Amino acid sequence: MSKQTYNPISKYYHDKFPKQKQPAPALQCEMSPIPDCGEKSYTGHQRLVGRKMLVTGGDSGIGRAAVIAYAKEGADVAINYLPYEQKDAEEVAKVIEAAGRKAVLIPGDLSDETFCKKLVEEAHHKLGGLDNLTLVAGKQTAVEDIMDLTTEQLKKTFEINVFSMFWVTKAALGYLKPGSTIITTSSVQAFQPGANLLDYASTKSAIIAFTRGLAKQLGHKGIRVNCVAPGPVWTPLQICGGQPSEVIPEFGKQTPLERAGQPVELSGVYVHLASEESSYTTAETYGVTGGLHTN
Ligand code: NAD
Ligand code: MG
Repeated sequence: MSKQTYNPISKYYHDKFPKQKQPAPALQCEMSPIPDCGEKSYTGHQRLVGRKMLVTGGDSGIGRAAVIAYAKEGADVAINYLPYEQKDAEEVAKVIEAAGRKAVLIPGDLSDETFCKKLVEEAHHKLGGLDNLTLVAGKQTAVEDIMDLTTEQLKKTFEINVFSMFWVTKAALGYLKPGSTIITTSSVQAFQPGANLLDYASTKSAIIAFTRGLAKQLGHKGIRVNCVAPGPVWTPLQICGGQPSEVIPEFGKQTPLERAGQPVELSGVYVHLASEESSYTTAETYGVTGGLHTN
């Protein structure tokens, strides 16, 4: 029988999104529709058997999709998130455990350097090793006018999106070995910044530079560093101030594929970059943008 065909435009939700707003950080379990992070739709193929991964932002959205795929590919996973997101994180732990893998939940604030060190120590200790950092956590708060962008927001966005990558990486380097991987998460915003996301887009460009520079620094150790740059993806980030509320119904419609992506559509790229099959790839950025492209 020939393989069933599909249409990428209609494969996932492509209607208007219902208007909705939550305070940050938003809970995925209260969104409508609930994003698809691969709970049922992702099938593993033993590509990460026995690996030990630490994923920030692993409770929801794109991080959750990476976590679920990693577990279904055979990895044990520690996930970090904010304490308020405990309910989302516990849902993810159930999916990891149903895949027969170990789930380690480590809530805490990545804008705190001391916590970043503690996070890595605890992940390494409870997983019994560490082979991968998947750095997905991020803050995005739309502000129309630079004059209204507070120094407080500017600092927080850089601390969470950029500084935490330095702190977590420094804490982990003593544990990573040849064959280990680091995956960062930038955005199409690094290449095509929106007028209302000046601070966020600047951090996403910094993440590209960090990825490329770190890859050069760590190449001789056999540690690869790559980046994923998503386009518009249906996640909690967007409905808690990431976008102005009024544009939520049309979110993603401006892409050539005429819809927002679902987190599970990023899963394959994270798995590829974490696994041995990408052994000659480092310092790269993989775009998953619905056609908005990354340069
Ligand atoms: P999300 O809300 O599901 O994930 C963001 C996560 O960041 C939260 O779950 C939270 O756990 C974590 N976080 C925020 N502040 C934190 C802090 N101080 N300490 C610890 N954790 C903190 O949304 P998402 O869209 O899946 O976002 C994941 C990544 O994808 C972000 O880096 C975002 O910039 C990037 N991204 C998203 C889109 C999109 O359209 N959704 C597009 C491009 C890039
Ligand atoms: Mg979350």
